Amino acid sequence: MFNRNAEIFIIGAGISGITAASKLIAHGFSNITILEAENRIGGRIESVKFSDGFIDLGAQWCSGEIGNSVYELCKNEFDFGLTGFEDFETFTTFTSNGRKIDEKKLEKLHSLRKKLEEMTEEMNASTQSTGEFFEERYFKAIRTPEYSDIEDELRDMFLSLWHRQTNAIYAAESWYDLSAQGFASNILCEGRQDLTWRTFGYKSLFNLVLKKFSGSEEHPINLNDRIKLNTKVTNISWKSDKVIIYTADKSVFHADHVIVTIPLGILQAHHKSLFTPTLPDLKVSAIENMKVGTLNKIFLEFDEPFWTKDFKLSAFMWTKEDLEEIIGTDKEWLKNIYGFLYVDGFSNLLETVLSGNKTKEFESYSDAKVENDCMWLLEKFLKRKLPRPTAMRRTRWSSRENFLGSYAYLSMQTTANNISPSDLAKSICNAHGMPILLFAGEATCPKYQGYVHGAFDSAKRAAQEIIEFYLKVIGISKINKL
Ligand SMILES: Cc1cc2nc3c(=O)[nH]c(=O)nc-3n(C[C@H](O)[C@H](O)[C@H](O)COP(=O)(O)OP(=O)(O)OC[C@H]3O[C@@H](n4cnc5c(N)ncnc54)[C@H](O)[C@@H]3O)c2cc1C
Repeated sequence: MFNRNAEIFIIGAGISGITAASKLIAHGFSNITILEAENRIGGRIESVKFSDGFIDLGAQWCSGEIGNSVYELCKNEFDFGLTGFEDFETFTTFTSNGRKIDEKKLEKLHSLRKKLEEMTEEMNASTQSTGEFFEERYFKAIRTPEYSDIEDELRDMFLSLWHRQTNAIYAAESWYDLSAQGFASNILCEGRQDLTWRTFGYKSLFNLVLKKFSGSEEHPINLNDRIKLNTKVTNISWKSDKVIIYTADKSVFHADHVIVTIPLGILQAHHKSLFTPTLPDLKVSAIENMKVGTLNKIFLEFDEPFWTKDFKLSAFMWTKEDLEEIIGTDKEWLKNIYGFLYVDGFSNLLETVLSGNKTKEFESYSDAKVENDCMWLLEKFLKRKLPRPTAMRRTRWSSRENFLGSYAYLSMQTTANNISPSDLAKSICNAHGMPILLFAGEATCPKYQGYVHGAFDSAKRAAQEIIEFYLKVIGISKINKL
């Protein structure tokens, strides 16, 4: 039983599934099978052909250089592009009433935001939500003489923009739902946050991983041959030493180890039927108390760019009166858009992202409505008639049956219940101490949840656990390659 021919099944062919398999193969394990519900590999990395290249419907940026294992793996193999923003200060701000904002005042508010966002120690010790934490300190600072030139209207418009941008980063429903601890626990790797895969898309990462770790002279197993697409796992029975996997097409597989990389949204919806017996209490509590947020994207293609250099990255500030006009109408979802971005490598594309409390409604809207509403919004803020897009592509991450959301964040409920991603990550061992059910995926990474490098690291951790088990038991050794 304790050998390198152990049958290892990995559920999900996103970056964590592919990474775990690659690492195990690099260590000489040969009986690896990946079961994937979709008809493609990649999961929440989904680069699709659009305009003159590939756009990313899911992960798009490689965020940070130091400590970012994805960047480390690819930096000598891929010539990354840059979107040109390091932080939100570099965005051009437009207002719904067309009034220009004094740049000096805006700079002061951005510095204050930065200062408050750096209070990670206080946030880690706080029981407040991110919204409560920032608002309390923001209003207190604004009341001091240093900020006496900031009008109430600008104060409120800036705060609302900050809120929308925070929701977009964390895919949060609201910053009152994102805990201050959750904000602080998500660590940024140092270095540029805006590295792009240019017009090749994030899928390039899979080409690099597969090229490096499978089908080569050193690693003769071709991982592509070990992936079963269109194979949805419906139940994992882990009662005895052998784990049995059942799939929707009525196949049955027997495994020594199973690495589960299924997204948290799916675990939340189906964990009771997915596992027999049900998972231990702590695991169930982690699944039920962590939160999966939704971030959706819209890409607009134009014949030629109508925007000039200063519009490459834009931030939209609503006046209270203008905002009130769309509240309660079918345009209300637009209030969650914080602005538009250009897409690196494409001269004629604009992109926007959307989180917050209107994602469900957004996902039910037709493409024509989404396109019309976006143009209404752009014309409202730019104050001029604009050409119609030639094409549009949008996402619906919370409606997709194999994802049910975009990525995890630590909500007020998560921290109130003392849950951390490490609880979700914990493996289940059999009576011999052998890890039979292991958990990987972005939501299980305590430092980099919601990121590709978080998913990547989590997979290395799960694979390492299997390797170490065999190292301990029969002394298999091979250099740690991935
Ligand atoms: C809109 C959006 C924008 C993002 N932007 C960024 C970004 O810019 N930078 C960044 O670093 N990260 C970003 N992320 C996050 C990043 O995409 C994820 O953290 C990462 O890709 C998750 O990888 P994973 O392997 O954990 O999960 P996944 O990629 O979701 O892989 C899990 C796989 O399991 C499969 N599966 C589900 N149920 C079953 C079942 N029952 N049986 C078999 N298979 C099943 C799924 O189909 C999926 O392929 C973004 C995500 C989204 C959605």
